[in-house]
Amino acid sequence: MLQDLRLTIVVENSASLENNLLQAQHGLSILLDLDMDLGMEDMKLLWDTGASSEVMLHNANALHIDLQEIDLICLSHGHYDHTGGLMGVLQKRTSPIPIVAHPDIYAPKLKVQPYLKYIGAPFSRHQLEAAGAIMLPCRSPATLAPGVMTTGEVPRIEAFETVEGFWTMRDGQYSADNIPDDQSLALHLPGKGLIVISGCAHSGIINTIRYAQRITGEERLYAVIGGFHLMGADQKRIDSTARALLDLNPAIIRPGHCTGQKALSRLQEMLGENCQPLAVGDSIEF
Ligand SMILES: [Zn+2]
Ligand SMILES: [Zn+2]
Repeated sequence: MLQDLRLTIVVENSASLENNLLQAQHGLSILLDLDMDLGMEDMKLLWDTGASSEVMLHNANALHIDLQEIDLICLSHGHYDHTGGLMGVLQKRTSPIPIVAHPDIYAPKLKVQPYLKYIGAPFSRHQLEAAGAIMLPCRSPATLAPGVMTTGEVPRIEAFETVEGFWTMRDGQYSADNIPDDQSLALHLPGKGLIVISGCAHSGIINTIRYAQRITGEERLYAVIGGFHLMGADQKRIDSTARALLDLNPAIIRPGHCTGQKALSRLQEMLGENCQPLAVGDSIEF
């Protein structure tokens, strides 16, 4: 059973004044320290790796994170801003490490904003494995520890949570990418409820929360943290997201990364004090 949890925001788009030794960049990486009350050392899980090895390693060093001590890495999806620091992390280690990710993280990932550009992972599976990764491809929810799961592919239910502007190769054809590899973490903290940690939430943050409720069997949402992917979203989608979050009524809402300033302001206006933006170096304890 999960007893205590501490999150450290290792890479994020925003910097805070308190942590001015850290570098901000468009990307996300969160270290989870999980105390399972098993009389063992905490489990250390790295959720995503930011956009570059330089920033990932600089911030890990400034935050006194020993990358050797990380037990497991999980990737939210294949975009470079979540996978770009992975090779740097692997190269700093001397022992192999398991990595849980959807098999589509290696698919070519592109966007047309404003021109056709590659935004996929900067490595091949072969390069990762040669650097010490033990790849665990997984499309469905995977249990990582008692009360700690990845969601795997998230069913797309909410009509307002659409995916647009991304492209890939499917069945040998250049085609629209609805990013099936997008996943989140779902943690069940006894006495408090469900904690959802997203990467970009390309599946939609509300779809993600609903699926996390389903797979954990825990209805009570306690916290939602990570990218909500509302950058460029219209007012209708932002308001629908805020209303759904208001209904779910979590104690802690920490949008960051790809949430966008417009959506963040609106979420704060509608959700009040419970909603605070993420910044690099933040530590969140449960
Ligand atoms: Zn993405
Ligand atoms: Zn992202």
